[in-house]
Order: sequence, then C-alpha cells, then structure tokens
Amino acid sequence: MNLQPFDPAHFLIMVVDDTAPNLKIMGSILEGVGYKTTFAMNGQQAIERLATVTPDLILLDWMMPEINGLEVCEILQANPQHQQIPIIFLTARQDRESCVQALETGAVDYITKPFHRLELLARVRTHLRLKDMSNRLQASLHAVEHLARTDALTGILNRRSLFEFADHQFRLAQRYGKSFAVIIFDIDHFKGVNDNYGHLAGDRVLKAVTAMVQSQIRTMDCFGRYGGEEFVLVLPDSDHTAGSILSDRLRKNLENLQIHPIEQPITASFGVSAYEPQDDHIDTLFNRADQALYHAKQAGRNCSFVCSYSDLLPQFNNCREITLETIEPAEPDA
Ligand code: GH3
Ligand code: MG
Ligand code: MG
Repeated sequence: MNLQPFDPAHFLIMVVDDTAPNLKIMGSILEGVGYKTTFAMNGQQAIERLATVTPDLILLDWMMPEINGLEVCEILQANPQHQQIPIIFLTARQDRESCVQALETGAVDYITKPFHRLELLARVRTHLRLKDMSNRLQASLHAVEHLARTDALTGILNRRSLFEFADHQFRLAQRYGKSFAVIIFDIDHFKGVNDNYGHLAGDRVLKAVTAMVQSQIRTMDCFGRYGGEEFVLVLPDSDHTAGSILSDRLRKNLENLQIHPIEQPITASFGVSAYEPQDDHIDTLFNRADQALYHAKQAGRNCSFVCSYSDLLPQFNNCREITLETIEPAEPDA
C-alpha cells in the first residue's frame, strides 16, 4: 500500500491536560506545523468532547484530578466507537511500570515530560501514518468483502450469500419452528430480449427487474441473483400464503414494467416453497421452489406455482399449487 503525501492539516489532534500552560505549549507546537487541534482540561471533558468531535489522535496527560489519564484510556478502549483513536501518553511519570501499564491499557505510545519537540512531532506523525494505513486497509477489506457477497451487474446478493442467508433461516426454522418462504423466478424468453435488442439492453432489463423487486420487499427479506436471468427471494417469518402473495404481486408488477427500448412486456415465471417440518436440508426447499418454477414454465409462463409436500390450502392468490406427490417422476434417459 502506497504512502500518501502527509499533510498535517488533514488531522485533528486532541490534547488533554489539566495545566493550561501545557495546553498552550502543545497547541503552538502542533498548530505550528499545521495540525488542527482541540483541547480538554480534564478526563471528563475529553470524554464529553468525543461525543461531538472525532480526533485522529489523542495526546493524554496521566495525572489529572478525578478521572486520570489511565482511566480515560480504559474508558475509550472499552468503547467500540473510540477504541480506534490512537492515544499517546504525555506524562511526567518516568518509571518503566507506568509506561508498560499505559501500553497494556491500549495506548500506542508513551512520551515523558519534559519532552523534545521534534521527537513528539515525529511520534505523532508516525502514529497518524499507521492509523491512516490501517483505515485504508480496513476500507479495502470492506470493499473486497462487499464484492465477494454481491452480484456485479445488479448489486444484489450473489448465489453464495443467498445460500448462506437461506441456510441460516433454515437453522432458525428448525430450532424455533418459524416458517420462511423461498421464491425463485426466471425471466421468460430472455434469450429473445438479448437476440432482438442486444446484450446491453438485456443487462438493463436485469437491473430494472432488480430495482422493481427491491421496491416491493421488506428490509428483512433477502433478494439475490441465482444466476443468469434467475432470481431468488428468501422471506423470513413467511409461509406459503405470504410467499404466494408476494410472488403474484411481483409477477403483475413485472408485466407492467416499461423498460426502454423493449416493446413487449417482460414477464417471469415463479416458483414458491416454504419451510415444512419434514425438511431436513435447505436444498429441499430450493428443490420444491424449482419444481414449482418448472411447472410454471410448462403451464405457459407468466404465472406462479407453489409446491408443498401435500395439499395445503384451497387456493393461493392466483398461485397454482402442486405437491411433491403429484410431480411425475422424470422419464429415464433412453
Ligand atoms: P425461458 O422462458 O424458458 O426461461 O427462456 P429463456 O430464453 O429466458 O431461457 P434460456 O435459458 O434459454 O436463456 C437465458 C438467457 O439469459 C441466455 C443468456 O444469454 C441470458 N443471460 C444470462 N445472463 C445474462 C446477463 O448477465 N446479461 C444478459 N444480457 N443476458 C444474460
Ligand atoms: Mg428464462
Ligand atoms: Mg434460466
């Protein structure tokens, strides 16, 4: 990772000291080379100030009345919002035990008074650089994690993250008996869209379908791209009825979606399943939703099917029902 040009004006340093002349000296040294500064006269004030400002580094006196520097350090280290701020002790305590104690409490460095101006500035700069590097590493890590979880074209979850989410729901369902539903849908005759309007128009359709679905689901629902023009929704706290209601709503919305320059309506076929106590693996739910989707395609497309182990309800909101018992076994290969 490259070192960025170092500009003190980008950094805010908080100085905490109960002696006003010390604050004045520190202020003039730090501001003299371009740092921004903020000051606190005691531990309590420092902690309160952190509610409104986030310094890049704290220079902390040890011996202060009421809350001393070591206690301030402990309090900040225990707070996830503040524990990343590097703390340098600046103290008259010369003994080795104090230095060790400060570092063990989470301080990054320890400078004894009287200090040398250039040494102080060099240490401040070193820790700011280290912190900056660690920030950038964290940002890169987040970006990589995000890339690994999402589908590049649509920005929704990819197949692997979908399965992780679904598997988690499955475990919750097994443990607490809460149902959840799975919807798989596949855009009808999508190859024709690519053939007639080009691949880029096809990509735009995939994005528009994604946006429409996102506008229709709850924040706790999980939506991802299964592959190609096939999508999956995993709906926590939902049963066959909830799954079929959403499925039919999405189907109708899709039919009415206008996507330039596609002239004919874009439609999709939907398969729905929901957790049932017989399920012993998440794959069985995906398999039923797949079977239902297959039937929706066979039945002429632009429709929804729900598949369960056995008959459930008289009628599901425009969703036709199949049961695993009624599915014909596949013809053996000739
Ligand atoms: P059906 O109604 O039976 O589902 O027919 P279909 O044409 O939708 O299905 P088929 O599986 O024959 O074709 C799927 C098409 O989806 C072919 C493939 O090129 C296209 N596709 C897959 N991924 C993408 C993508 O990321 N962008 C675009 N534009 N097309 C894609
Ligand atoms: Mg298709
Ligand atoms: Mg397909």
